[in-house]
Amino acid sequence: MSLLITNIGELVTNAPRDAVSVASPGPFEALTDAALVLDDGHVAWTGPATQAPSADTMADAEGRAVLPGFVDSHAHLVFAGERGAEFAARMAGQSYSAGGIRSTVAATRAASNEQLRVNLARLAAEMLAQGTTTFECKSGYGLTTADEARSLTVASEFTPEVTYLGAHVVPPEFDGNVAGYVDLVCGQMLAACAPHARWVDVFCERGAFGADEARAVLAAGEAAGLLPRIHANQLGPGPGVQVAVEAAAASADHCTFLTDADVDALACSGGTVATLLPGVEFSTRQPYPDARRLLSAGVTVAIATDCNPGSCFTSSMPFCAAIAVRDMHMTTQEAVWAATAGGAHALRRTDVGHLGVGARADLVMLDAPSHAYLAYRPGVPLVAGVWRGGERVEDGRLRSTS
Ligand SMILES: [Zn+2]
Repeated sequence: MSLLITNIGELVTNAPRDAVSVASPGPFEALTDAALVLDDGHVAWTGPATQAPSADTMADAEGRAVLPGFVDSHAHLVFAGERGAEFAARMAGQSYSAGGIRSTVAATRAASNEQLRVNLARLAAEMLAQGTTTFECKSGYGLTTADEARSLTVASEFTPEVTYLGAHVVPPEFDGNVAGYVDLVCGQMLAACAPHARWVDVFCERGAFGADEARAVLAAGEAAGLLPRIHANQLGPGPGVQVAVEAAAASADHCTFLTDADVDALACSGGTVATLLPGVEFSTRQPYPDARRLLSAGVTVAIATDCNPGSCFTSSMPFCAAIAVRDMHMTTQEAVWAATAGGAHALRRTDVGHLGVGARADLVMLDAPSHAYLAYRPGVPLVAGVWRGGERVEDGRLRSTS
C-alpha cells in the first residue's frame, strides 16, 4: 500500500535531487512545497508537490516540515534506578561523586529482566514520540558476565544497534585490579556477550580505561566479530580519539577536549565520526565540545543524546539539536544533518538518516514549517507524526487528513 504525503512545506532529504536511487546519506538537502511517496516500507519518490505521482492513499501535511527520523547513535538505556537527587545536588553546586554510577550498577544487578525490559520500553517509546526512529543501546551497568549478557539480550529486543560496553567502569569487586577486569571483559564476558551485540565500546578516560586497555578491549571485540566505537576525550585530553582512529572505529564519542592532532586524526580518518553529546555538557555544566572546529576541519559530526541515568537523562534529539545550535554554534542545517545523517554514519547505516529514493521510510513530521523550529522553539513538543518502515507509529497532534 503506497502513501503520498503532499503539501510538505519543507522536506529535508539529505539526498541529491532527482536521484533515481540513493545509496547512503548525502549532504543536507531540503525541498520546499514538496511531496513524498512511501511504498513497501521505503521512500519511492520525492519532488515538487505539483509533480507528485498518485498513490493508494494520501495525507496532507498542510505545509508542515518532514525530516528523516532522528538517528540516536549513543544511548545507555539498560539500567534500573534513577539519580534525580544526584543531579539536583550537582546543580546546587556539590561536586560529582563517583558513587553515582555504582548506584546504577547495584540497582541494575538487583533488577529482574522484566524490570530492565519495562524501563527500556518506556525510554524507547519516549524516543519514538520525539522522532527517533533508530537508536543505539549499550550495556555497561551490569559489569558481570551474566548481567552484561542479559542487558544485551534485553537491548536486542528493541534495536539491532546493540553495543557491548563491559568496559564502562571497573566494578567495585575489581577495585585495584583493572588488569583483572580487562581480562574478564576481553575473555569470558566477551564470549557471552558477542552473540547479542553488533558493537564493542570502551570508556577511554582517566579513571576508567587507558589507551592500552582500550586497544585491548576493541581488538578482542573485533576478533569476536564486533565493530569498534569508543567513549573518548570527555572529561579531559587523552588518547581516546587516537585509539579510535587507529582502530578505524565508526565513531569517537564526546570529543569535548581535543588537541589539534586529535582533530587532524579525525579529519584524515576516512570514516571515524565525531559524535557530540551536548546533553551531557548541559546536564553537568561542563564546557561544550567545539563543533565549529571539527566542522571546519572537515570531520563528520553526529549529535546523539547519551541518554543515561547519571550524566544526561534526556532522550530528546530535538533538545540536543537545539543546544547544538544555541551553544555550539552549529547552523540549524548542520544540527539536523548531524542528528539524522551524522548518526547514520556513526552507525555505518546507509538506509536511514536520509529520505532519498530507496531509504527506509523513517520520517518525522513537525508541527512547524521548517526544520529550524527545532531550535527556534526549544522544549516545545513539535512532533506531529512519525513513520517507521513506512508505518505510522506516532500520531502526535496531527489531525487525521488521510
Ligand atoms: Zn556514553
